[in-house]
Amino acid sequence: MPMDMHISFFNFSLKKVLAQQPDNLKKARIKIVYAILLLSILKILVILPMVFHSIKDQQLYRIIFVFILYIGLTKYLLYKPLNINIISQGMVIIGIAAIWGNIFIFQQNINFVTIQFVFMVTFVSYYLIDSRYAVIYSILGILPVMYFLAVTSRQSWHLSAVPEELPSPGFEAAVFMNFITMLLVHYLFYCAFRANVIEKEALNKKLEATVAETKALADSRSVFLSTMSHELRTPLNAVIGMTNLVKDTATEEQTENLDILEFSAMSLLTLVNDILDYNKTENDKIELEAIPVNLPDLLHKVCTGLQQKAAEKGLDVLLQVDENLKGRWVITDPTRITQIIYNLVGNAIKFTEKGSVSVQVTSIGQTGDDMQVHFSVADTGIGIAPNRQGAIFDPFTQASVDTTRYYGGTGLGLAIVKRLLKLFNSEIRLQSKQGEGSTFSFDMDFGLYQGVINPVTILPAMDSRLDGLNILIAEDNPINSLLLVKLLTKWNATSVVATNGQDAVDKLLAGSFDAILMDLHMPIMDGYQATTAIRALADPVKARITIIALTASVSHNINGKINLAGMNDYLSKPFQPASLYQKLAPLNADKAAKAMVG
Ligand code: ADP
Repeated sequence: MPMDMHISFFNFSLKKVLAQQPDNLKKARIKIVYAILLLSILKILVILPMVFHSIKDQQLYRIIFVFILYIGLTKYLLYKPLNINIISQGMVIIGIAAIWGNIFIFQQNINFVTIQFVFMVTFVSYYLIDSRYAVIYSILGILPVMYFLAVTSRQSWHLSAVPEELPSPGFEAAVFMNFITMLLVHYLFYCAFRANVIEKEALNKKLEATVAETKALADSRSVFLSTMSHELRTPLNAVIGMTNLVKDTATEEQTENLDILEFSAMSLLTLVNDILDYNKTENDKIELEAIPVNLPDLLHKVCTGLQQKAAEKGLDVLLQVDENLKGRWVITDPTRITQIIYNLVGNAIKFTEKGSVSVQVTSIGQTGDDMQVHFSVADTGIGIAPNRQGAIFDPFTQASVDTTRYYGGTGLGLAIVKRLLKLFNSEIRLQSKQGEGSTFSFDMDFGLYQGVINPVTILPAMDSRLDGLNILIAEDNPINSLLLVKLLTKWNATSVVATNGQDAVDKLLAGSFDAILMDLHMPIMDGYQATTAIRALADPVKARITIIALTASVSHNINGKINLAGMNDYLSKPFQPASLYQKLAPLNADKAAKAMVG
């Protein structure tokens, strides 16, 4: 072993051996074995002159033989310290031989020293031998004592106790030295144990610090991602909005180019949203909504939305919904269900050149007010190689390196689907054969909605106008406020721009408005503070004005925060002009109705 290579055969220094040993526990073991060997050698050197003339030859030869063995083992330890296990076993075997020899040959009795040897063999076996042999050795050490006790009568045991023992004071010296050995071994072992515990504690502290550091790093990564996505959404808002505005007056060729621009901006927005969503799922920041949803309607909408994409490739999207589910309302989170199905069906269309994409939704059981539903999205596309079927659910992972080149995408969709399904206590399954197609499926439990659903209000089409509405725009970003002014002008509404919260309050006091579009992050006074100030105004009409927050914020539970701040509604940036229109149209209808009554 490389550790041994630096030690010469003529090395007699324990220090040198220990210096080359990085493992503290091994170091301690070497020290203990060295101490036992040294004390054993010393013991013989002390006893031998005391008893030299009075013991039998047989005993003398035995002592000299053991002495030579101890010297040999000590030398071997200083030369090959890594073989500590073998050396310890050698020592224990000498001990066992001494016990057996004492009991069955030399003394045919149990004396004090033999019992000491039994103890030493036992603890040395467990402390120093790193294997199951320790158990065998300790049993071998105890066995002859047990046997002797079992077969010998108490009387003969007492009678034959003295004559065969070492003559005084050799015997006493041996007993004394054995006790010293026991003490020292335990002391050294205790030191090693303590050092080990201290080292582990230090390591644990280090580990805790590293875990905290990693967590802080993950947190700052997540904050960075949120901020970056937030910052990207603000300019994207202007790009998408302006493109929409310009399209109205564009020539055919310009419209074509603007469509590409809009498509690219929307793709970028999807990517930003995907990154945000993934980040949110990773930090457990998504809270599922629980509202009544008509599942067949929802699925129909998602599939119709994707139908055009499919039609461009000559594909059909077939939706089959179990009869059992039709007309039933379930309690769930429609946004997240949409996201899951949209991703799966979107992928199915993307990776299929001919054939069809089918979405099947079957009810597989009902227990009380709970319904178990099986969803599957199958395609006849390129399929996925068996060895990639696990990996594609990892973030930023695609089935092959060519995928981006041929099909685009970032590899986030399925990772989000997997995480979202986990929130629903469900799991995605995949069956796929390369060249034949893929089927993604999952099961989900829904609570059935027992209440009565009001008919859905049909929102006015965008071509109707917002004549007569006067809107206060509180927005510090000039491009965004310009976009809002242009949109409102297009819909025949008038508007006034305030560049911060204070300005908005002042302008509201000075004029008459139907609603405020309130950016949340503004200098001097932000959207939340401005809302609080407005809600506290003395004029009851002004204090109750409709406030719609405009936010590029990505924090979860935005709805709760908006309501808490006293705002009526919110719109996430970037928004489609149609969404803004849908928020403002009811105000216009209200105003018209009031005017008629008035
Ligand atoms: P993206 O579609 O953006 O690449 P996804 O996470 O949605 O990311 O999908 C990861 C990968 O899984 C895809 O790149 C594709 O290789 C593979 N994949 C997903 N759905 C299908 C499918 N229906 N057919 C074949 N391959 C698919």
